[in-house]
Amino acid sequence: MQKVRTVKGTKDLLGKEILIHNFITSKFERLCKGMNFQQITTPILENSEIFTRSLGLSSDIVSKEMYNFIDQGNDNLVLRPEGTAAIARAIITNSLEQDLNKFFYFGPMFRRERPQSGRSRQFHQVGVEYIGSKNHLSDVEVILLAEQFLKDLKIRKKLILEINSLGNEQSRHNYNLNLKKFFEKNLSKLSDISKKRLNKNPLRILDSKEKKDQDIVQSAPNIIDYLDEESKLFFEELLKSLDKLKIDYKINRFLVRGLDYYNHTAFEYITNDKKSQNTVLAGGRYNGLIKNLGGKDLSGVGWAAGIERIQIQLEKFEETKFKKVCIFSTNRKLDVEVLKMISNLKLNDTIQLNFVNDGSLKKKFAKANKIGAYGCLIFGEDEWKSKQVIWKDFNSGNQKLINLQKVNEFLNKDI
Ligand code: ATP
Ligand code: MG
Repeated sequence: MQKVRTVKGTKDLLGKEILIHNFITSKFERLCKGMNFQQITTPILENSEIFTRSLGLSSDIVSKEMYNFIDQGNDNLVLRPEGTAAIARAIITNSLEQDLNKFFYFGPMFRRERPQSGRSRQFHQVGVEYIGSKNHLSDVEVILLAEQFLKDLKIRKKLILEINSLGNEQSRHNYNLNLKKFFEKNLSKLSDISKKRLNKNPLRILDSKEKKDQDIVQSAPNIIDYLDEESKLFFEELLKSLDKLKIDYKINRFLVRGLDYYNHTAFEYITNDKKSQNTVLAGGRYNGLIKNLGGKDLSGVGWAAGIERIQIQLEKFEETKFKKVCIFSTNRKLDVEVLKMISNLKLNDTIQLNFVNDGSLKKKFAKANKIGAYGCLIFGEDEWKSKQVIWKDFNSGNQKLINLQKVNEFLNKDI
């Protein structure tokens, strides 16, 4: 019989991989808290409309990638494909519309894509959202946080920050009209997929992965020329601040991001290779999103990064080295006492106890050797009667008796 398997595009996280995963999320968490971002976890299940109303029907996510289903109660549900719309929903649901909200999150996302390296159907994101501020300095703050995060992970140097402005709604609208005209004139040179996109969302053609489109896109009108005064000023101020902060970036006028809700700033941290999965971290400003979901007209800016894609970039990962201590008895009857003592210990983070509850004494020692234990705490019958326990140091081979009351202190200080 064939072994039971995971769903295509999903996998179990265990061993070194989950250590790396936790390493990434804990660095992220520490950094976010340090910059006064609060953690939020939204449900994995959401009503489909949260995403259909906000991301745009022509986006890749809504048009082909969502795990959408009708449940037994006839509700139209989705496994969340991304975090921003869900957090916008949470702002409204929890009546948080009065204040500035700086949130960070991490967790699994689901998209039905063709699985390959750096692209899976269940993947994991870390992300931030800064909601309620129209100031370009909020864009700077979230980019700064991204910089810090990537530097902490020692992968910033491998990435290029690309940035663009989509302008405010009016500028974006004007640009779209002109872009459409341009592509209509060059219809025969477009790929089939772009021909279909032309009516719904001509912007999307700019970041097409098709070679045919890329040639014609080079001579398309430049979005920067369509920015109105407000949009131009916003972008200039943002770039000036990045310069002052010595953040390296490259303007990419073709960077539009796939979702409808972006305006003004759009940015991505990408690797040098030309693979389609070369974006590690991506974000932008989304001024209309919360209003679209039925909330107040609040603006926001944020980003998300794929943990799996960060992992591909991480070269060195230093596993925390525990001091392993084996603990066992010479007599089964004492095993519960061993557990009782373990439950009363308060140990440093660096110590890992391994309780061995089975096998002969010889086997227990063999197990301690196999896991590379630093030493063993042994509960012997006679010693137990005098409230003592044996410590055997594997480095020196020495053995000594420790008073039961002193075991905690001994493990924390003396080994
Ligand atoms: P791509 O162009 O690679 O499809 P995207 O624009 O769809 O990315 P976003 O929605 O902006 O991606 O998500 C933010 C980040 O989440 C991406 O930059 C990437 O690191 C990660 N990501 C997105 N989709 C996947 C996936 N299917 N598997 C793994 N990571 C992903
Ligand atoms: Mg995608």
